Amino acid sequence: MKYSVIAPIYNEVENIPELSRRVRAVMEQTGEVWELLLVDDGSTDGSTEQIQQLAEEDPRVVPVIFARNFGHQIAVTAGLDYSRGEAVIIIDADLQDPPEVMLDLIAKWREGYQVVYAVRSKREGESLFKLFTAAVFYRLIQRITDVNIPMDAGDFRLMDRSVVNVLNSMRERHRFLRGMSVWVGFKQIGVEYERAARLSGETKYPLRKMIKFASDAITGFSYFPLQVAMYLGFVSAGISILAIPVVIALRLAGSQAFFGQASALIAVLFLGGVQLISLGILGEYIGRLYDEAKGRPLYIVTEAPQSENSIVRQAS
Ligand code: UDP
Ligand code: MG
Repeated sequence: MKYSVIAPIYNEVENIPELSRRVRAVMEQTGEVWELLLVDDGSTDGSTEQIQQLAEEDPRVVPVIFARNFGHQIAVTAGLDYSRGEAVIIIDADLQDPPEVMLDLIAKWREGYQVVYAVRSKREGESLFKLFTAAVFYRLIQRITDVNIPMDAGDFRLMDRSVVNVLNSMRERHRFLRGMSVWVGFKQIGVEYERAARLSGETKYPLRKMIKFASDAITGFSYFPLQVAMYLGFVSAGISILAIPVVIALRLAGSQAFFGQASALIAVLFLGGVQLISLGILGEYIGRLYDEAKGRPLYIVTEAPQSENSIVRQAS
């Protein structure tokens, strides 16, 4: 098997026929053996039946059906687990990533690159809010993590089998694949493309999922938030050391400046707030540690191809 194309699907019933049509048209141009893994992430709108139907009509379509919604990154992970291609391409099911760009990714792979990620040079049909949060997110990640995650590159990418095998051995639960696929190293390159508008339906990334995604990315690749508590501690300790002699001097000079409860109250509330925030940050990391310790499977499938991959058997 030369190529595997993975599309995570969560309630994309209107997009699936067009997706499979365009992916097929593009992949046929390569003249190689390929498969299209459609990972159903607990859809409730009939996408599941549609995927099964497509698989019956075309043996190159491989269904992976989840028992419930596990999330986008986990759906892609399952696709990687079950993929058999020498090169694996991840693509969104809503056709925001034009399948035609896959040929550019493949061309770079043929030149010898092992990770070819697609960079959004332009984004169409996205809300200002989405554009803004995405811009802030990528810049923040760039700043505070140790891996050099390319700006404005999503999960639309091609990975060589050697990279996929490494990723498949990384079974962390809170996954940020675009970070993980950079972290592994290898020869990487970006290819620019214009991100289209969603063909049909609404984004499956509401604010709640975006926040979870961002915190997985940050906690997965950085200790910076933990260090923030320490910096804040140093700053407030510093301020108080400076403030004590100042207050004493003012008091000796007969000033009324620090009489009354207001200033004490403000200081107590401020520090209380800082402490609670620090606790919350600790909690984020500890909760993730706890999740890893439980060692539950990353996902549960109700239907998937037979796999010799021991990780998959263990995981599902
Ligand atoms: N998706 C998924 N599970 C989820 C949310 C999204 O499999 O819980 C899929 C979705 O069907 C799509 C891809 O992930 O193929 C990207 O989602 P979406 O287009 O909603 O994100 P956006 O492009 O708005 O960031
Ligand atoms: Mg989309």
